[in-house]
Amino acid sequence: REVASLARTLDLLPEAAALLDTQGGLLGSIRTRLTGLPDVVTRIRAALVDEPPIRAGDGGLIRDGFHAELDELRGAAIGHRAWLAELEVSERARTGIPSLKVGFNSVFGYYLEVTGAHLGKVPADYRQIATLKDRARFTRPDLREREREIARLDAASERLELEVFTELRDSLAAHAEALSEAAGALSELDVLAALAEMAAASSWVRPATTTGHTHLTQARHPVVEGSLGGRFVPNDARLGEDRRTLLLTGPNMAGKSTYLRTVALCALLHQIGSFVPADRAELPIYDAIHTRIGASDDLAGGRSTFMVEMSELAAILHGVTARSLVILDEIGRGTSTLDGLAIAQAALEHLHAAGAHTLFATHYFELTRLEADLPGLINLHVAAEEVHLENGAAGSGGLTFYHQVVPGAARQSYGVEVARLAGLPGQVTTRAARLLGALSVQGDDTRLSRELATLDLGRLTPMQALETLHRWQRELNGQTVAIES
Ligand code: ATP
Repeated sequence: REVASLARTLDLLPEAAALLDTQGGLLGSIRTRLTGLPDVVTRIRAALVDEPPIRAGDGGLIRDGFHAELDELRGAAIGHRAWLAELEVSERARTGIPSLKVGFNSVFGYYLEVTGAHLGKVPADYRQIATLKDRARFTRPDLREREREIARLDAASERLELEVFTELRDSLAAHAEALSEAAGALSELDVLAALAEMAAASSWVRPATTTGHTHLTQARHPVVEGSLGGRFVPNDARLGEDRRTLLLTGPNMAGKSTYLRTVALCALLHQIGSFVPADRAELPIYDAIHTRIGASDDLAGGRSTFMVEMSELAAILHGVTARSLVILDEIGRGTSTLDGLAIAQAALEHLHAAGAHTLFATHYFELTRLEADLPGLINLHVAAEEVHLENGAAGSGGLTFYHQVVPGAARQSYGVEVARLAGLPGQVTTRAARLLGALSVQGDDTRLSRELATLDLGRLTPMQALETLHRWQRELNGQTVAIES
């Protein structure tokens, strides 16, 4: 069947090549490589029947008239079968039994069957081989002989067919190089046609190649957009020397991962020579796109979820250069909060120092403070709004996602709110909201003491000290007010 469909495909290639109305470039090269191999098609068509059976060893795959010896074997078997068909007619006449039948089963082979009423008319040359309730089955030496002959001829044809087919296959193997050349050209055409179709149908844009910066205007994630249709919110992305690390915060479900992947996909599409899902796109040639996304483990391979995450991070940190694009979707989640935060900050600093273009999504809001210390690190967040209902108690409202990436850091993850949307039992989310209030106070204390402990007093001017104190007081008050409400 595969060989037959090979012929069908090869037959279409000249038609496909003729559609490529060009001599030069990639399409021109595909056109010259899309040779139909007409000799191969003719040979396959001559040898195989139109609809070959599933298994080559079952016979019935070689066309009549292709192989003289096979035709002879088949002809002889047909002759014997015709004799059997005639036997029924001639024996009815000879014995005077109108209901006499020639039948076949796998135990007895061919037999003559006579019903009870006529058993008295059975001739002497019949030998009984089976007795049923109201009939008996008989055989005869010449019937046995024919049966053996048919079986022998069938087996011989099947063997021969397989031989003929193997020869055909071997002869095709001689064209392996030309076939894989044509297959390669066809695959390339398939990829280009798919990308062209996407570009035309979804208004993608031809990207400009830059020497360093990435500017995407109204970029879209092609797959998410495909499933959301008109509801997808496009976003801009700007990366360059002065904006090389984008730290993305925002509520759960806001669209951080989607944004990261959008940028990575645009970079990838640009680099494979495709149009890009955006209104305008300027991109450099990255030497690599490093990604760490999602959580998976490799238990059989001896690695836990966190170990897999860290191994992937290690590969990125060792491989990154100033010309790389790095997409990190949460780092340090599978360990204690403080370990995770420390690892995330150290990794972020490493990537920043390496000069790579990094998009880093996180729920560690502490990291957003790095904007003050690391020039070129920019805070972004995905906009969402908590809507308070009736009494305005925390968590009683709903969350509106805008999926819009805007400057600045987010203040909350709204994890409990999203857990409620996901259908966690009411008691659990209410309790979680209450616990969150208490933990926030403790957490803030810890964060403040950490910040205080690491404050470089030697480099702090009196004015900065005063500003820091003022900020802490403001933050603490803000926190307290939020919890009380
Ligand atoms: P989490 O922090 O929980 O992992 P996230 O911020 O990474 O969430 P995504 O996984 O990117 O959020 O997006 C969640 C869902 O929001 C998507 O499955 C998609 O349906 C929708 N979404 C994301 N981005 C957009 C967008 N730009 N326009 C419209 N819908 C979007």
